[in-house]
Amino acid sequence: MNQPVIPRSWVASANGHADFPLQNLPLGIFSHDDQPPRCGVAIGDSILDLEAVLAAGLFEGQARRAVEATRGGALNAFFELGRPARVALRERLLQLLGENAAEQAQLSDFLCPATACTLHLPARIGDYTDFYVGIEHAKNVGKLFRPDNPLLPNYKYVPIGYHGRASTIRASGADVRRPKGQTLPVGQTEPSFGPCARLDYELELGIWIGRGNELGEPVPVAEAAEHIAGYCLLNDWSARDIQAWEYQPLGPFLSKSFITSISPWVVTAEALEPFRCAQAPRPEGDPQPLSYLLDNRDQANGGFDIELEVLLLTEKMREQNLPAERLTLSNTQAMYWTVAQMVAHHSVNGCQLQAGDLFGSGTLSGANPGQFGSLLEITNGGKEPINLASGEVRKFLEDGDEIILRARCRADGVASIGFGECRGKILSAH
Ligand code: CA
Repeated sequence: MNQPVIPRSWVASANGHADFPLQNLPLGIFSHDDQPPRCGVAIGDSILDLEAVLAAGLFEGQARRAVEATRGGALNAFFELGRPARVALRERLLQLLGENAAEQAQLSDFLCPATACTLHLPARIGDYTDFYVGIEHAKNVGKLFRPDNPLLPNYKYVPIGYHGRASTIRASGADVRRPKGQTLPVGQTEPSFGPCARLDYELELGIWIGRGNELGEPVPVAEAAEHIAGYCLLNDWSARDIQAWEYQPLGPFLSKSFITSISPWVVTAEALEPFRCAQAPRPEGDPQPLSYLLDNRDQANGGFDIELEVLLLTEKMREQNLPAERLTLSNTQAMYWTVAQMVAHHSVNGCQLQAGDLFGSGTLSGANPGQFGSLLEITNGGKEPINLASGEVRKFLEDGDEIILRARCRADGVASIGFGECRGKILSAH
């Protein structure tokens, strides 16, 4: 059998690039050389300046309107245009960056080395909702509190979520200041105040909302794709000791709102199309989703097969030039609900979603050790510390620790793509 031909780019570093080959073309907001932030597309080790390409007259029609909507340092207006504009832009970029593009010489001037650029948040985030669709995480965490009954009865009916804090979301690379807060030390009856002692990460998929819905008009599962602009990686930094004391009865609050990190590139649904899969079948005996959450096409093709990875780089590893150590290798197939079900559920009461809103999936742990998406699970609530190759031991994160999230999409006969990194380093408490 012939090997399928994978289209190549004239940008040499794109061919075989781990994250950004020609087939990905994620959009982001970047700046360089004191220029104001602007829209770019990641291609290999470079960023193509779309405003410069626009000024050179290389976009027409719908693709031109799409790029015009990216101006002003945020992608909200572009997200609002929805899928047709996004697809038109992608088709044009595939021509311009493809191997035989006639515009190659002209476009070379509009490429910036990514290492010389600063990446920003890609959109103004109006609202941030964190879901809890990683069922293995829900079971693992539930077990810590309720060994005999880890999943609460609503879990298999309701895509559980809570409203997070939009103002403290930062692009990859932002430092993470250890929060202070109230905790109830073990064996005490009165709380203490001080720096968080159980700082943790959560490995999540981020979902960018595209075109919004009108207040009072739910988005059906079958139409959800029209309202999704793209995807990123998300680290829902969590202060476990603060969380344990504050979370009842209304859920997480200050234990989550000190910072959330995301990867800055918006990976589109079109780029992820080859990595779609059937939603993982529900275990025998689980209820069917209620009808407003059930759509046969979504069940058949609404899942994602994306490998997710978490690495830890400690101060000592940096000093001794040791590589970052993998803590987690998981997959988006751990999602009990599809992204379309999350959109449908979020809006079923009439809640308005707006372009630039962000969803977190919830921690995406696998069922087995090595696949757990938080230290809370890996160390069994801090009871079983892990030994690192550097000789260090961790129950939770220490000052100087850096957490790095990565993703990898692989399928037969197509180029593998990634998301770029989501990094954050812990600074000591003020
Ligand atoms: Ca979370």
